[in-house]
Amino acid sequence: MVRRSQAQAGLDLEGAPDSTPKRQKVEEPEASTSTALNAEPAPDSFEPKHPELWWRDGNTVIAADGLSFKVHAGILEKHSSVFCELLEELQGVEQPEMFEGCRVLRVDDKGEHLAALLQILYDGGSGSFTDWRKPLKLTALRRVTLLAVKYKIQHIIDEAIARLEYIFPTSFEPDRLVESFYMSTDKSHPVHFDQATDLIAVITLAREINPDTPPSFIAMALYHSVGLTAEMLLKPIKYDGDEIMLSLADRVKCFEQLYLLATTNKTVKMPVVSAIKKPLCSSTTCHDGLVAVLSQWISNGELATFDPLGPCTYAFEKVADKHPNRRVCVACTAQLTKAIDDRRRILFASLGERFGISTWPAQS
Ligand SMILES: [Zn+2]
Repeated sequence: MVRRSQAQAGLDLEGAPDSTPKRQKVEEPEASTSTALNAEPAPDSFEPKHPELWWRDGNTVIAADGLSFKVHAGILEKHSSVFCELLEELQGVEQPEMFEGCRVLRVDDKGEHLAALLQILYDGGSGSFTDWRKPLKLTALRRVTLLAVKYKIQHIIDEAIARLEYIFPTSFEPDRLVESFYMSTDKSHPVHFDQATDLIAVITLAREINPDTPPSFIAMALYHSVGLTAEMLLKPIKYDGDEIMLSLADRVKCFEQLYLLATTNKTVKMPVVSAIKKPLCSSTTCHDGLVAVLSQWISNGELATFDPLGPCTYAFEKVADKHPNRRVCVACTAQLTKAIDDRRRILFASLGERFGISTWPAQS
């Protein structure tokens, strides 16, 4: 995690006056640090300073991959027990690497990602991280969450879980259980997805947060992933510079459910078939409407696909719009919608068992 400090023959100038402004923008490493005055040669490998996260009164330099930061040990220690340990260890190093009078903590994190994390610690990421009116792309949320897991920063992990639970509900939210919901870039959504492989990223992120008892949002993400291609499920994929892949156990569950959910799908929609065989009312218009709904499901392949959690109300509305003379009557629509929703609810409750998630259902 942390590369050992290089021994530097230098004076510790900690506490020395510094005339640089508090938020001085610095694009290049300062050559002056290698003057004879402080006898502190800048290591060849030193990374450029972050233009904002380089505090005049900072007391610790973090050198990450591609960027360095001058920050306050107290801020890091307040939020992260891991930083506490690393900084304590650094204090114990006899001849630490020094820069601008600060001990240098070297980490292997990508500089830009660490910058996003530090910005949240200092100012809430300019408000955007905790402000749901500003949606985050999944890649951005994932970057800081992975670092929050590594450094054990619980409030950032909690925020990520809350955002993802909105997209992948842990209680029965009839209209949020369809693919078009999680793939939406609606402004009210706290996380935006733009590619099918985002699902793999969400599932693997949940397992990073807690491998054995992952956050409950993983259940709906696994449910949706059943619809991914076999190639996406089976092979490692490139995602935001990483190579990610579902665990073997998760892959097996997805393939199992591909078959099991297809059967459940028919069970969920069966009330419509039953109502055709045994009409709920005496209207032939209503009966013709039900036949039209079923025909539409069959021709769209919806009876054979895995998506039994999808709502059925739109199917009734669509038939009513398209065939005014085959309109399912209001009372029958309500009765059938309820019968189907009751079955969807039972299926939703069973997702934990189906995908091996012990924390499910999170809310009853
Ligand atoms: Zn009817």
